[in-house]
Amino acid sequence: MTVPPGAEGLASPVPPGEGWPGDLADRSTPVARSAGGVARQARSVRDLDDLGARVSVCSACPRLVRWREDVAREKRRAYAEEPYWGRPVPGWGAADPWLLVVGLAPAAHGANRTGRVFTGDRSGDWLFAAMHRAGLARTPTSVHAADGQELLGARMVAAVRCAPPDNKPTVEERDACAPWLHAELALVSPSVRVVVALGAYGWGGRCGPGRPRAAPSRARCHASGTGRTPS
Ligand code: SF4
Repeated sequence: MTVPPGAEGLASPVPPGEGWPGDLADRSTPVARSAGGVARQARSVRDLDDLGARVSVCSACPRLVRWREDVAREKRRAYAEEPYWGRPVPGWGAADPWLLVVGLAPAAHGANRTGRVFTGDRSGDWLFAAMHRAGLARTPTSVHAADGQELLGARMVAAVRCAPPDNKPTVEERDACAPWLHAELALVSPSVRVVVALGAYGWGGRCGPGRPRAAPSRARCHASGTGRTPS
């Protein structure tokens, strides 16, 4: 069992403001229900916490909303006794990082279950162990939202914030989600020096031809691996 203390007994998906550790949203958080809504809301975010709250209740992509919530209700047998986050997964880590890791999307039974990006699947296990060895993570493992893990000078984000079927968001879903990523890039721009893009979507979201104008201009880009997350 990897249920964060205080989250036992919560419904799946977890309702905003019901006590999930680190949940930035509550019932008053505005919900984007279309690509246009994402764009409008992303333009008016105040800070990273406000952005994370709005991301975590976004419902702009009907196919992904259905998928992430179905997975959260049906669960994998190994996690049958756990509540699943089942909502979009916000960026996580230092508020003023020098290193930004950009991945593809949450894994169905990884971040879609734990609510923390790259947490609860094998690629995340590898990534957190490597970051700990490099002095970028307080502990070598990341298992749930209240495990004491902390990123040191680093932040992790996904280009698409909802778990997609077969790890494959459509181009329309990627584009709908892009304003959230661009808003996050703009907020961390003053401190970021290096961006590690995991796979083509991570690369395209930050460093490729479609990179946002608000992206950190002084940061170096590095491409690494496939960025796909096993479910
Ligand atoms: S993928 Fe992004 S835009 Fe689409 S519902 Fe999830 S958070 Fe919203």
